Amino acid sequence: MSTPLVALVGRPNVGKSTLFNRLVGGRKAIEEKIPGVTRDRLYGRSSWLDKEFLVVDTGGLTLSGREEMEIQVQKQAQLAIEEAVVIVFLVDGRQGLTYLDEEIAGMLRRQGKPVILAVNKIESVEQSIVDFYQLGLDDPLPISAAHGLNIGDLLDKIVSFFSPVPGEKQQEDEVIRIAVVGRPNVGKSSFINALLGEERVIVSQEPGTTRDAIDTLLEREGKKYILVDTAGIRKKSKVFENVEYYSVIRSLKAIDSADIAFLLLEAQEGVTEQDQKITGYILESGKALIIAMNKWDLVKQQRKEGHVLEIVNDARDDLKFVSFAPLVFTSIYEPRRLKNLFDLFQKVYENYSTRIPTPLLNKLLADAQGVNPLPALKGKRGKIYYWTQSATKPPTFVLFANNSSLIHFSYLRYLENRLREAFDFKGTPVRLLVRSRKRKE
Ligand code: GDP
Ligand code: GDP
Repeated sequence: MSTPLVALVGRPNVGKSTLFNRLVGGRKAIEEKIPGVTRDRLYGRSSWLDKEFLVVDTGGLTLSGREEMEIQVQKQAQLAIEEAVVIVFLVDGRQGLTYLDEEIAGMLRRQGKPVILAVNKIESVEQSIVDFYQLGLDDPLPISAAHGLNIGDLLDKIVSFFSPVPGEKQQEDEVIRIAVVGRPNVGKSSFINALLGEERVIVSQEPGTTRDAIDTLLEREGKKYILVDTAGIRKKSKVFENVEYYSVIRSLKAIDSADIAFLLLEAQEGVTEQDQKITGYILESGKALIIAMNKWDLVKQQRKEGHVLEIVNDARDDLKFVSFAPLVFTSIYEPRRLKNLFDLFQKVYENYSTRIPTPLLNKLLADAQGVNPLPALKGKRGKIYYWTQSATKPPTFVLFANNSSLIHFSYLRYLENRLREAFDFKGTPVRLLVRSRKRKE
Protein backbone atom coordinates (compact mmCIF):
# COMPACT_ATOMS: atom_id res chain seq x y z
CA MET A 1 0.00 0.00 0.00
CA SER A 2 1.33 3.45 -0.82
CA THR A 3 1.82 6.08 1.84
CA PRO A 4 -1.24 8.33 2.23
CA LEU A 5 -0.93 11.96 1.19
CA VAL A 6 -2.35 14.83 3.23
CA ALA A 7 -2.81 18.19 1.51
CA LEU A 8 -2.69 21.53 3.29
CA VAL A 9 -4.96 23.94 1.46
CA GLY A 10 -5.88 27.54 2.19
CA ARG A 11 -5.32 31.09 1.13
CA PRO A 12 -1.94 32.76 1.70
CA ASN A 13 -0.75 33.65 5.17
CA VAL A 14 -3.14 31.45 7.07
CA GLY A 15 -0.17 29.42 8.35
CA LYS A 16 0.14 26.49 5.96
CA SER A 17 3.91 26.43 5.91
CA THR A 18 4.04 26.87 9.69
CA LEU A 19 1.76 23.86 10.07
CA PHE A 20 3.75 21.95 7.48
CA ASN A 21 6.93 22.47 9.44
CA ARG A 22 5.27 21.42 12.63
CA LEU A 23 3.99 18.19 11.08
CA VAL A 24 7.18 17.33 9.29
CA GLY A 25 9.44 18.41 12.15
CA GLY A 26 13.15 18.14 11.56
CA ARG A 27 12.75 15.85 8.59
CA LYS A 28 13.76 17.02 5.17
CA ALA A 29 11.15 18.33 2.82
CA ILE A 30 11.21 17.55 -0.87
CA GLU A 31 10.55 20.53 -3.13
CA GLU A 32 8.61 20.61 -6.32
CA LYS A 33 8.48 23.66 -8.55
CA ILE A 34 5.05 24.76 -9.65
CA PRO A 35 4.75 27.52 -12.24
CA GLY A 36 2.62 30.50 -11.28
CA VAL A 37 2.94 30.26 -7.54
CA THR A 38 5.36 32.10 -5.32
CA ARG A 39 6.38 29.13 -3.26
CA ASP A 40 7.33 25.64 -4.26
CA ARG A 41 5.16 22.81 -3.33
CA LEU A 42 6.70 20.99 -0.41
CA TYR A 43 6.39 17.34 0.37
CA GLY A 44 7.47 15.98 3.72
CA ARG A 45 7.15 12.80 5.66
CA SER A 46 5.27 12.79 8.92
CA SER A 47 3.93 10.21 11.31
CA TRP A 48 1.45 9.95 14.10
CA LEU A 49 1.19 6.96 16.39
CA ASP A 50 2.06 4.08 14.10
CA LYS A 51 0.94 5.77 10.90
CA GLU A 52 3.23 7.28 8.32
CA PHE A 53 2.06 9.80 5.79
CA LEU A 54 3.21 12.44 3.36
CA VAL A 55 2.21 16.06 3.76
CA VAL A 56 2.07 18.50 0.91
CA ASP A 57 2.06 22.20 1.56
CA THR A 58 0.30 23.54 -1.48
CA GLY A 59 2.19 26.84 -1.30
CA GLY A 60 1.22 30.48 -1.52
CA LEU A 61 -0.27 32.27 -4.50
CA THR A 62 0.52 35.49 -6.32
CA LEU A 63 -2.69 37.40 -6.15
CA SER A 64 -2.63 39.96 -8.89
CA GLY A 65 -6.36 40.25 -9.32
CA ARG A 66 -9.50 38.55 -8.37
CA GLU A 67 -9.82 36.42 -11.50
CA GLU A 68 -6.22 35.35 -11.57
CA MET A 69 -6.54 34.61 -7.90
CA GLU A 70 -9.51 32.39 -8.39
CA ILE A 71 -7.84 30.47 -11.18
CA GLN A 72 -4.77 29.93 -9.07
CA VAL A 73 -6.73 28.83 -6.05
CA GLN A 74 -8.61 26.39 -8.19
CA LYS A 75 -5.43 25.02 -9.69
CA GLN A 76 -3.71 24.69 -6.39
CA ALA A 77 -6.56 22.99 -4.65
CA GLN A 78 -7.20 20.75 -7.60
CA LEU A 79 -3.68 19.41 -7.68
CA ALA A 80 -3.72 18.70 -4.00
CA ILE A 81 -7.15 17.17 -4.03
CA GLU A 82 -6.33 14.76 -6.79
CA GLU A 83 -3.49 13.23 -4.89
CA ALA A 84 -4.65 13.49 -1.31
CA VAL A 85 -6.46 11.07 0.92
CA VAL A 86 -7.59 13.89 3.20
CA ILE A 87 -7.43 17.66 2.92
CA VAL A 88 -6.62 20.01 5.75
CA PHE A 89 -8.30 23.30 4.92
CA LEU A 90 -6.61 25.98 6.94
CA VAL A 91 -8.26 29.31 7.73
CA ASP A 92 -7.06 32.27 9.79
CA GLY A 93 -8.91 32.61 13.10
CA ARG A 94 -7.46 36.07 13.77
CA GLN A 95 -8.56 37.53 10.50
CA GLY A 96 -11.88 35.72 10.50
CA LEU A 97 -13.90 34.36 7.63
CA THR A 98 -13.14 35.82 4.20
CA TYR A 99 -14.71 35.64 0.80
CA LEU A 100 -11.83 33.57 -0.47
CA ASP A 101 -12.33 31.00 2.31
CA GLU A 102 -15.91 30.59 1.16
CA GLU A 103 -14.77 30.11 -2.40
CA ILE A 104 -12.33 27.41 -1.42
CA ALA A 105 -14.88 25.73 0.85
CA GLY A 106 -17.42 25.62 -1.95
CA MET A 107 -14.97 23.93 -4.23
CA LEU A 108 -13.89 21.44 -1.60
CA ARG A 109 -17.48 20.53 -0.78
CA ARG A 110 -18.11 19.69 -4.42
CA GLN A 111 -15.09 17.38 -4.53
CA GLY A 112 -16.41 14.92 -2.01
CA LYS A 113 -13.03 14.20 -0.42
CA PRO A 114 -12.70 14.31 3.34
CA VAL A 115 -11.89 17.83 4.53
CA ILE A 116 -10.72 18.85 7.97
CA LEU A 117 -11.42 22.50 8.68
CA ALA A 118 -8.64 23.81 10.92
CA VAL A 119 -8.91 27.34 12.29
CA ASN A 120 -5.37 28.50 12.87
CA LYS A 121 -3.89 31.16 15.14
CA ILE A 122 -6.27 30.35 17.99
CA GLU A 123 -4.23 30.94 21.10
CA SER A 124 -6.80 32.01 23.64
CA VAL A 125 -10.24 30.88 24.69
CA GLU A 126 -11.63 34.34 23.94
CA GLN A 127 -11.16 33.83 20.24
CA SER A 128 -14.34 32.59 18.64
CA ILE A 129 -14.49 30.17 15.79
CA VAL A 130 -18.26 30.04 15.33
CA ASP A 131 -18.20 32.07 12.10
CA PHE A 132 -16.46 29.21 10.38
CA TYR A 133 -19.47 26.94 10.77
CA GLN A 134 -20.90 28.98 7.88
CA LEU A 135 -18.52 27.18 5.54
CA GLY A 136 -20.73 24.12 5.74
CA LEU A 137 -17.86 21.76 6.36
CA ASP A 138 -17.17 19.56 9.33
CA ASP A 139 -16.87 21.17 12.78
CA PRO A 140 -14.04 23.67 12.77
CA LEU A 141 -11.05 22.58 14.83
CA PRO A 142 -9.17 25.41 16.55
CA ILE A 143 -5.39 25.07 16.39
CA SER A 144 -2.26 27.12 16.67
CA ALA A 145 0.40 25.94 14.28
CA ALA A 146 2.92 28.41 15.67
CA HIS A 147 2.38 27.41 19.30
CA GLY A 148 1.59 23.76 18.75
CA LEU A 149 -1.88 23.87 20.26
CA ASN A 150 -4.35 21.10 19.46
CA ILE A 151 -2.02 19.59 16.89
CA GLY A 152 -2.57 16.15 18.46
CA ASP A 153 -6.31 16.42 17.86
CA LEU A 154 -5.66 17.49 14.31
CA LEU A 155 -3.39 14.49 13.75
CA ASP A 156 -5.98 12.16 15.28
CA LYS A 157 -8.46 13.43 12.74
CA ILE A 158 -6.01 13.15 9.87
CA VAL A 159 -5.07 9.54 10.52
CA SER A 160 -8.69 8.54 11.10
CA PHE A 161 -9.12 8.77 7.33
CA PHE A 162 -6.33 6.29 6.61
CA SER A 163 -8.31 3.08 6.83
CA PRO A 164 -6.94 0.60 4.31
CA VAL A 165 -8.71 0.00 1.03
CA PRO A 166 -10.90 -3.06 1.74
CA GLY A 167 -10.09 -4.94 -1.47
CA GLU A 168 -6.39 -4.52 -0.97
CA LYS A 169 -6.54 -5.80 2.59
CA GLN A 170 -8.49 -8.88 1.70
CA GLN A 171 -5.99 -9.88 -0.91
CA GLU A 172 -3.20 -9.41 1.54
CA ASP A 173 -4.96 -11.56 4.10
CA GLU A 174 -5.31 -14.56 1.86
CA VAL A 175 -1.69 -15.56 2.02
CA ILE A 176 0.52 -15.90 5.07
CA ARG A 177 4.06 -14.82 4.40
CA ILE A 178 6.72 -16.68 6.31
CA ALA A 179 10.43 -15.97 6.45
CA VAL A 180 12.55 -18.94 7.44
CA VAL A 181 15.71 -17.53 8.96
CA GLY A 182 18.69 -18.72 10.94
CA ARG A 183 22.44 -19.09 10.84
CA PRO A 184 24.21 -20.99 8.09
CA ASN A 185 24.01 -24.76 8.51
CA VAL A 186 21.19 -24.58 11.00
CA GLY A 187 19.17 -26.56 8.50
CA LYS A 188 17.09 -23.97 6.63
CA SER A 189 17.36 -25.55 3.19
CA SER A 190 16.62 -29.01 4.50
CA PHE A 191 13.73 -27.72 6.57
CA ILE A 192 12.16 -25.90 3.66
CA ASN A 193 12.57 -28.86 1.37
CA ALA A 194 10.93 -31.08 3.97
CA LEU A 195 8.12 -28.60 4.44
CA LEU A 196 7.53 -28.38 0.73
CA GLY A 197 8.00 -32.09 0.24
CA GLU A 198 4.45 -33.19 0.60
CA GLU A 199 2.70 -29.94 -0.11
CA ARG A 200 1.56 -28.58 -3.38
CA VAL A 201 4.05 -26.02 -4.55
CA ILE A 202 2.17 -23.65 -6.75
CA VAL A 203 5.03 -21.57 -8.01
CA SER A 204 8.59 -22.57 -7.71
CA GLN A 205 11.12 -20.86 -9.87
CA GLU A 206 14.71 -21.71 -10.12
CA PRO A 207 16.80 -18.63 -9.61
CA GLY A 208 19.61 -17.92 -12.03
CA THR A 209 21.88 -16.94 -9.20
CA THR A 210 21.52 -16.97 -5.44
CA ARG A 211 21.13 -13.21 -5.54
CA ASP A 212 17.65 -13.54 -6.94
CA ALA A 213 14.97 -13.21 -4.35
CA ILE A 214 12.23 -15.67 -5.12
CA ASP A 215 9.19 -16.44 -3.05
CA THR A 216 7.64 -19.87 -3.01
CA LEU A 217 3.89 -20.19 -2.83
CA LEU A 218 2.45 -23.37 -1.40
CA GLU A 219 -1.00 -24.54 -0.55
CA ARG A 220 -2.19 -26.80 2.21
CA GLU A 221 -5.77 -27.63 3.08
CA GLY A 222 -6.97 -24.75 0.96
CA LYS A 223 -4.76 -22.23 2.75
CA LYS A 224 -1.95 -20.46 1.00
CA TYR A 225 1.49 -19.71 2.33
CA ILE A 226 4.42 -17.91 0.87
CA LEU A 227 7.88 -18.84 1.97
CA VAL A 228 9.64 -15.55 1.50
CA ASP A 229 12.80 -15.52 -0.56
CA THR A 230 13.66 -19.14 -0.08
CA ALA A 231 14.41 -20.41 -3.55
CA GLY A 232 17.98 -19.24 -3.24
CA ILE A 233 18.31 -21.00 0.07
CA ARG A 234 17.02 -24.25 -1.34
CA LYS A 235 19.45 -24.22 -4.19
CA LYS A 236 22.50 -23.16 -2.30
CA SER A 237 25.44 -21.88 -4.18
CA LYS A 238 28.80 -23.33 -3.37
CA VAL A 239 30.57 -20.55 -5.17
CA PHE A 240 29.33 -17.59 -3.26
CA GLU A 241 32.25 -15.86 -1.52
CA ASN A 242 30.61 -14.13 1.36
CA VAL A 243 27.72 -16.35 2.23
CA GLU A 244 27.38 -15.37 5.85
CA TYR A 245 27.27 -11.63 5.25
CA TYR A 246 24.94 -12.02 2.36
CA SER A 247 22.61 -14.34 4.18
CA VAL A 248 22.17 -11.79 6.99
CA ILE A 249 21.08 -9.06 4.63
CA ARG A 250 18.88 -11.51 2.86
CA SER A 251 17.31 -12.63 6.13
CA LEU A 252 16.59 -9.07 7.21
CA LYS A 253 14.91 -8.33 3.90
CA ALA A 254 12.90 -11.51 4.13
CA ILE A 255 11.78 -10.64 7.66
CA ASP A 256 10.68 -7.19 6.54
CA SER A 257 8.40 -8.57 3.90
CA ALA A 258 6.96 -11.41 5.99
CA ASP A 259 4.11 -11.76 8.48
CA ILE A 260 5.82 -14.44 10.50
CA ALA A 261 9.52 -14.92 11.10
CA PHE A 262 10.34 -18.58 11.62
CA LEU A 263 13.69 -18.66 13.35
CA LEU A 264 15.66 -21.88 13.32
CA LEU A 265 18.14 -22.55 16.12
CA GLU A 266 20.53 -25.43 16.33
CA ALA A 267 19.01 -27.25 19.30
CA GLN A 268 22.25 -28.65 20.64
CA GLU A 269 24.16 -25.40 20.40
CA GLY A 270 21.52 -23.23 21.98
CA VAL A 271 21.11 -19.52 21.36
CA THR A 272 24.18 -17.78 19.99
CA GLU A 273 24.89 -14.07 19.97
CA GLN A 274 24.02 -13.92 16.29
CA ASP A 275 20.70 -15.63 17.00
CA GLN A 276 19.96 -12.99 19.60
CA LYS A 277 20.77 -10.19 17.20
CA ILE A 278 18.44 -11.56 14.58
CA THR A 279 15.76 -12.04 17.22
CA GLY A 280 16.21 -8.43 18.29
CA TYR A 281 15.75 -7.33 14.72
CA ILE A 282 12.59 -9.39 14.37
CA LEU A 283 11.23 -7.84 17.55
CA GLU A 284 11.92 -4.34 16.26
CA SER A 285 10.30 -5.12 12.95
CA GLY A 286 7.08 -5.97 14.80
CA LYS A 287 6.63 -9.28 13.03
CA ALA A 288 5.15 -12.42 14.49
CA LEU A 289 7.74 -14.92 15.63
CA ILE A 290 8.05 -18.67 16.03
CA ILE A 291 11.30 -20.18 17.28
CA ALA A 292 12.29 -23.68 16.30
CA MET A 293 14.82 -25.83 18.08
CA ASN A 294 15.94 -27.64 14.98
CA LYS A 295 17.70 -30.99 14.51
CA TRP A 296 15.75 -32.14 17.55
CA ASP A 297 16.47 -35.74 16.57
CA LEU A 298 20.09 -35.22 17.62
CA VAL A 299 19.06 -34.08 21.09
CA LYS A 300 16.66 -36.95 21.48
CA GLN A 301 19.30 -39.45 20.45
CA GLN A 302 21.17 -38.70 23.61
CA ARG A 303 18.21 -39.87 25.63
CA LYS A 304 19.14 -37.82 28.64
CA GLU A 305 16.10 -36.29 30.26
CA GLY A 306 18.06 -33.68 32.21
CA HIS A 307 19.98 -32.62 29.15
CA VAL A 308 16.82 -31.97 27.17
CA LEU A 309 15.34 -29.85 29.93
CA GLU A 310 18.52 -27.89 30.28
CA ILE A 311 18.60 -27.09 26.58
CA VAL A 312 15.03 -25.89 26.59
CA ASN A 313 15.38 -23.83 29.76
CA ASP A 314 18.58 -22.20 28.58
CA ALA A 315 16.96 -21.27 25.28
CA ARG A 316 13.91 -19.83 26.99
CA ASP A 317 16.16 -17.86 29.27
CA ASP A 318 18.23 -16.42 26.43
CA LEU A 319 15.06 -15.51 24.57
CA LYS A 320 13.16 -14.01 27.51
CA PHE A 321 12.71 -10.77 25.64
CA VAL A 322 10.52 -12.55 23.10
CA SER A 323 8.65 -14.76 25.56
CA PHE A 324 5.53 -14.37 23.42
CA ALA A 325 7.11 -16.55 20.73
CA PRO A 326 6.21 -20.24 20.81
CA LEU A 327 9.11 -22.65 20.94
CA VAL A 328 8.77 -25.67 18.70
CA PHE A 329 10.98 -28.69 18.15
CA THR A 330 11.67 -29.66 14.58
CA SER A 331 13.53 -32.27 12.67
CA ILE A 332 13.49 -33.25 9.04
CA TYR A 333 13.43 -36.84 10.22
CA GLU A 334 10.11 -36.39 11.96
CA PRO A 335 7.62 -35.15 9.36
CA ARG A 336 4.80 -35.25 11.91
CA ARG A 337 6.39 -32.32 13.72
CA LEU A 338 6.42 -30.36 10.49
CA LYS A 339 2.79 -31.04 9.67
CA ASN A 340 1.64 -29.55 12.96
CA LEU A 341 3.41 -26.34 12.07
CA PHE A 342 0.74 -25.33 9.61
CA ASP A 343 -1.85 -25.09 12.35
CA LEU A 344 0.57 -22.99 14.34
CA PHE A 345 1.13 -20.68 11.37
CA GLN A 346 -2.63 -20.18 11.12
CA LYS A 347 -3.03 -19.52 14.81
CA VAL A 348 -0.12 -17.12 15.09
CA TYR A 349 -1.24 -15.25 12.01
CA GLU A 350 -4.73 -14.95 13.42
CA ASN A 351 -3.33 -13.49 16.63
CA TYR A 352 -1.07 -11.17 14.68
CA SER A 353 -4.06 -9.79 12.72
CA THR A 354 -6.58 -9.79 15.54
CA ARG A 355 -8.65 -6.78 16.51
CA ILE A 356 -10.01 -6.42 20.03
CA PRO A 357 -13.21 -4.38 20.42
CA THR A 358 -12.71 -1.20 22.45
CA PRO A 359 -15.41 -2.02 25.06
CA LEU A 360 -13.59 -5.24 25.98
CA LEU A 361 -10.33 -3.35 26.24
CA ASN A 362 -11.77 -0.73 28.51
CA LYS A 363 -13.34 -3.28 30.79
CA LEU A 364 -9.93 -4.87 31.07
CA LEU A 365 -8.31 -1.50 31.72
CA ALA A 366 -10.79 -0.64 34.48
CA ASP A 367 -10.11 -3.99 36.15
CA ALA A 368 -6.37 -3.67 35.75
CA GLN A 369 -6.31 -0.16 37.19
CA GLY A 370 -8.61 -1.25 39.98
CA VAL A 371 -6.36 -4.09 41.06
CA ASN A 372 -3.14 -2.20 40.56
CA PRO A 373 -3.54 1.59 40.35
CA LEU A 374 -0.82 3.67 38.79
CA PRO A 375 1.76 4.64 41.38
CA ALA A 376 2.39 8.33 41.96
CA LEU A 377 5.57 9.72 40.42
CA LYS A 378 7.07 12.89 41.86
CA GLY A 379 3.89 13.50 43.79
CA LYS A 380 1.71 13.28 40.70
CA ARG A 381 -0.57 10.44 39.79
CA GLY A 382 -1.06 9.21 36.27
CA LYS A 383 -4.44 8.26 34.96
CA ILE A 384 -5.26 6.31 31.85
CA TYR A 385 -8.68 7.29 30.54
CA TYR A 386 -9.11 4.67 27.87
CA TRP A 387 -7.28 2.72 25.23
CA THR A 388 -8.09 1.50 21.80
CA GLN A 389 -6.51 -0.76 19.23
CA SER A 390 -5.19 1.43 16.47
CA ALA A 391 -3.67 -1.21 14.22
CA THR A 392 -3.13 -4.90 13.58
CA LYS A 393 -0.05 -6.74 12.36
CA PRO A 394 1.12 -6.36 15.04
CA PRO A 395 -1.76 -5.45 17.35
CA THR A 396 -1.08 -1.87 18.46
CA PHE A 397 -2.87 -0.17 21.32
CA VAL A 398 -2.99 3.52 22.07
CA LEU A 399 -3.51 4.60 25.65
CA PHE A 400 -4.87 8.04 26.37
CA ALA A 401 -3.58 9.36 29.65
CA ASN A 402 -3.59 12.62 31.58
CA ASN A 403 0.17 12.82 31.26
CA SER A 404 2.21 10.29 29.36
CA SER A 405 5.33 10.96 31.47
CA LEU A 406 3.49 9.58 34.50
CA ILE A 407 2.90 6.22 32.84
CA HIS A 408 5.96 4.22 33.69
CA PHE A 409 7.31 1.52 31.41
CA SER A 410 6.74 -1.13 34.05
CA TYR A 411 3.06 -0.24 34.12
CA LEU A 412 2.87 -0.81 30.37
CA ARG A 413 4.46 -4.19 30.97
CA TYR A 414 1.79 -4.92 33.51
CA LEU A 415 -0.95 -3.94 31.07
CA GLU A 416 0.63 -6.00 28.32
CA ASN A 417 0.60 -9.02 30.61
CA ARG A 418 -3.06 -8.46 31.46
CA LEU A 419 -3.79 -8.14 27.77
CA ARG A 420 -2.02 -11.40 27.04
CA GLU A 421 -3.87 -13.15 29.85
CA ALA A 422 -7.23 -11.98 28.55
CA PHE A 423 -6.67 -12.56 24.84
CA ASP A 424 -4.61 -14.96 22.77
CA PHE A 425 -1.57 -13.12 21.47
CA LYS A 426 0.70 -16.11 21.26
CA GLY A 427 3.36 -15.56 18.63
CA THR A 428 2.72 -11.90 18.08
CA PRO A 429 4.29 -8.85 19.63
CA VAL A 430 1.88 -6.20 20.86
CA ARG A 431 2.66 -2.52 20.98
CA LEU A 432 1.45 -0.09 23.59
CA LEU A 433 1.70 3.62 22.90
CA VAL A 434 0.81 6.37 25.35
CA ARG A 435 -0.59 9.76 24.51
CA SER A 436 -1.34 12.68 26.76
CA ARG A 437 -4.77 14.07 26.45
CA LYS A 438 -6.51 16.81 28.36
CA ARG A 439 -9.69 15.57 29.95
CA LYS A 440 -12.66 16.86 28.00
CA GLU A 441 -15.35 18.00 30.43
P1 GDP B 1 1.09 30.30 4.55
O1 GDP B 1 1.22 31.40 3.56
O2 GDP B 1 -0.33 29.84 4.64
O3 GDP B 1 2.04 29.19 4.35
O4 GDP B 1 1.37 30.95 5.99
P2 GDP B 1 2.69 30.95 6.87
O5 GDP B 1 2.90 29.64 7.53
O6 GDP B 1 3.80 31.50 6.08
O7 GDP B 1 2.26 31.95 8.02
C1 GDP B 1 1.80 33.24 7.74
C2 GDP B 1 1.99 34.11 8.98
O8 GDP B 1 1.16 33.65 10.04
C3 GDP B 1 3.41 34.08 9.52
O9 GDP B 1 3.77 35.37 9.96
C4 GDP B 1 3.31 33.13 10.70
O10 GDP B 1 4.28 33.42 11.68
C5 GDP B 1 1.93 33.39 11.20
N1 GDP B 1 1.36 32.23 11.89
C6 GDP B 1 1.34 30.96 11.44
N2 GDP B 1 0.71 30.14 12.35
C7 GDP B 1 0.36 30.94 13.38
C8 GDP B 1 -0.31 30.71 14.62
O11 GDP B 1 -0.67 29.58 14.97
N3 GDP B 1 -0.52 31.78 15.42
C9 GDP B 1 -0.12 33.03 15.08
N4 GDP B 1 -0.39 34.00 15.92
N5 GDP B 1 0.52 33.28 13.92
C10 GDP B 1 0.76 32.26 13.07
P1 GDP C 1 21.24 -24.15 5.95
O1 GDP C 1 22.62 -23.66 5.69
O2 GDP C 1 20.64 -23.46 7.14
O3 GDP C 1 20.34 -24.09 4.76
O4 GDP C 1 21.40 -25.69 6.41
P2 GDP C 1 21.22 -27.04 5.55
O5 GDP C 1 19.79 -27.29 5.25
O6 GDP C 1 22.15 -26.99 4.40
O7 GDP C 1 21.69 -28.13 6.61
C1 GDP C 1 22.99 -28.16 7.17
C2 GDP C 1 23.29 -29.56 7.66
O8 GDP C 1 22.39 -29.95 8.71
C3 GDP C 1 23.13 -30.62 6.58
O9 GDP C 1 24.18 -31.53 6.69
C4 GDP C 1 21.80 -31.28 6.90
O10 GDP C 1 21.74 -32.63 6.49
C5 GDP C 1 21.75 -31.18 8.40
N1 GDP C 1 20.36 -31.15 8.90
C6 GDP C 1 19.39 -30.32 8.50
N2 GDP C 1 18.25 -30.56 9.18
C7 GDP C 1 18.51 -31.54 10.05
C8 GDP C 1 17.73 -32.25 11.06
O11 GDP C 1 16.55 -31.96 11.31
N3 GDP C 1 18.36 -33.21 11.78
C9 GDP C 1 19.66 -33.55 11.56
N4 GDP C 1 20.19 -34.48 12.30
N5 GDP C 1 20.42 -32.89 10.64
C10 GDP C 1 19.86 -31.93 9.88
